[in-house]
Amino acid sequence: MGIVVQKYGGSSVADAQGIKRVAKRIVATKKEGHDVVVVVSAMGDTTDELLDLANQVSPLPAARELDMLLTAGERISMAVLAMAITDLGQEARSFTGSQAGVITDAEHGRAKIIDVTPGRIVQAIADGAVAIVAGFQGVSQESKDITTLGRGGSDTTAVALATALGAEVCEIYSDVDGIFTADPRIVPNATHIPRLSYAETLEMAANGAKILHLRCVEYARRYNVPIHVRSSFSNKEGTWVVNPEEVNSMEAAIISGVAHDRSEAKITVVGVPDKIGEAAKIFTAIAEAKIDVDMIVQNVSAAATALTDISFTLSQTDGAAAVRVLTDLKDTVAYEQLIFNDAVGKVSLIGAGMRNSPGISARFFQALADAGINIDMISTSEIRISVVVAESQIDDAVRATHAAFDLGTDEVEAVVYGGTGR
Ligand code: ASP
Ligand code: MG
Repeated sequence: MGIVVQKYGGSSVADAQGIKRVAKRIVATKKEGHDVVVVVSAMGDTTDELLDLANQVSPLPAARELDMLLTAGERISMAVLAMAITDLGQEARSFTGSQAGVITDAEHGRAKIIDVTPGRIVQAIADGAVAIVAGFQGVSQESKDITTLGRGGSDTTAVALATALGAEVCEIYSDVDGIFTADPRIVPNATHIPRLSYAETLEMAANGAKILHLRCVEYARRYNVPIHVRSSFSNKEGTWVVNPEEVNSMEAAIISGVAHDRSEAKITVVGVPDKIGEAAKIFTAIAEAKIDVDMIVQNVSAAATALTDISFTLSQTDGAAAVRVLTDLKDTVAYEQLIFNDAVGKVSLIGAGMRNSPGISARFFQALADAGINIDMISTSEIRISVVVAESQIDDAVRATHAAFDLGTDEVEAVVYGGTGR
């Protein structure tokens, strides 16, 4: 039997009891004859608490030190989990990301994995031990400093290790029984999805479904690592994320689900001169500040004024930085005004089958209209339609859309065991 990588999220290891429960599951997998490599997140809300602490000490904590602080959360989990496993009579060894050979670039807070050299992990499993790795962290090749991969990054650590070790599967454990057609916290009769393609899962992750870290899905698709999303609180089958050929056509629905994202903000640059190069200037400045932009809409310019408005959405956390960048740009791009709104969110309808089914957008927009929801912006991909709406209307929009496409089930299947979804 081969190597199994198991990743446990914060809600699965929230307290001593959770740690012991997870330890039993790991030992059971080992007893089945697998080599087991475990990736852990910080216990419960530890990462948020450490962030709060940092912000109390400094309004803009130094990025290097913030990473040093946040990685401590995962180090606590890995050590106590190793203790609990050892207590069950199974040898376990914990490793920091750096010890496990997770090599990254030097971008603090959003580092990318550039290589994994898991020599010590290979040695540990060859010795018959369970290897426990601290998620969400690595070490920069250039600066030799400790880095973090961005919030939720432990999933990516798990898939990167699974790839480097040639594991047969990467199991991602959270507090829900896999992937559902909508967040069961908002839509209690959301339907469980047994198998989902990488492409649809990517759209779900990129558009706010908190079930998997975006980069982990990209990584898994690139290296063809099957992901098995499950709950650590039950023995239900969960969801397999696989190649589209492995999702049988009986199961492949036209619409696979509705995702939502509360973390968006919108910036409108009002009165931009409608001439060549202005949009390029705006988005070059934004890119230089390493800010990711999501949707962009430019209005037709008013003939009388030759001015146009450009709106775009971005992550709320980048809002202040983007406003600063654009304020500095006011002399270069002679726009009239800047409007920042962080009370917006995004609702997305996702499904590989929408490619060849006409009328999907009409039905989506009608459902929103019937629920009295105004659409602020629209964007589409081949297998997704997203709208920006007022943040206060997100839950209603998700419910209305889910119902309009008959995605619900009669028997309530979704159990949310923990509370945070990770
Ligand atoms: N503990 C980190 C976070 O809360 C990483 C993770 O959970 O994957 O974002
Ligand atoms: Mg977490």
